[in-house]
Amino acid sequence: MSARILIVEDEPGLVLTLTDLLSAEGYEVESAQDGLSGLRKALEGQFDLIVLDVMLPGKNGFDVCRELRQQGRDTAVLMLTARGQVVDRVVGLKLGADDYLAKPFDPAELTARIEALLRRAGRNTYGPPSQFEFGDVWADFDHGTVTKAGKPVQLAGKELQLLRYLVEHRGQTVSRERLLEAVWEYSAGVTSRTVDVHIAWLRQKLEDTPQSPRWIHTVRGVGYRFVP
Ligand code: CA
Repeated sequence: MSARILIVEDEPGLVLTLTDLLSAEGYEVESAQDGLSGLRKALEGQFDLIVLDVMLPGKNGFDVCRELRQQGRDTAVLMLTARGQVVDRVVGLKLGADDYLAKPFDPAELTARIEALLRRAGRNTYGPPSQFEFGDVWADFDHGTVTKAGKPVQLAGKELQLLRYLVEHRGQTVSRERLLEAVWEYSAGVTSRTVDVHIAWLRQKLEDTPQSPRWIHTVRGVGYRFVP
């Protein structure tokens, strides 16, 4: 499947040029011409990468990028900065952009950067994040530590593995079957009820109101979905 790229840029000529260029490279391309619709599309669509101009009407590229990250989206972001705006680069990277390119740019340079970012993003999707933050919860999977509102939360091994799997597949519905396979490897005596019980424990420990969970949603008849 070809990678999907969202271009957020308000210069119509550049949008056309970029769309042609990236389509010719085999990418699926969509575009938005202002910051607000760009952010909406970025949040709604499943994009692999966003080419994001800094100077945009409605909402600038920095704010779009910051809000994307605040909503827990780790889509690769390549920012387009105006010539000579050195500060843009630093601010952009701080706000969670993955790379930047100053205008005017060489099309070959742009496609090279995009390929590199997609390769990097592709690798990341094969491994769970080593750390993840949602609400007041901070999980460090490498060290097996979780805190809520700064206080340590004790998670059993399977709870931590379950959380890690949900975080890794955040935004997706994962079936009980898949969780059984991934976390319990179909151990003897383990049933889908085991999954439900562990989910309930995770909610007790991590949710503010476990009865109406904010993060770990039940998908009736199927399984669960972690929504960051
Ligand atoms: Ca612009």
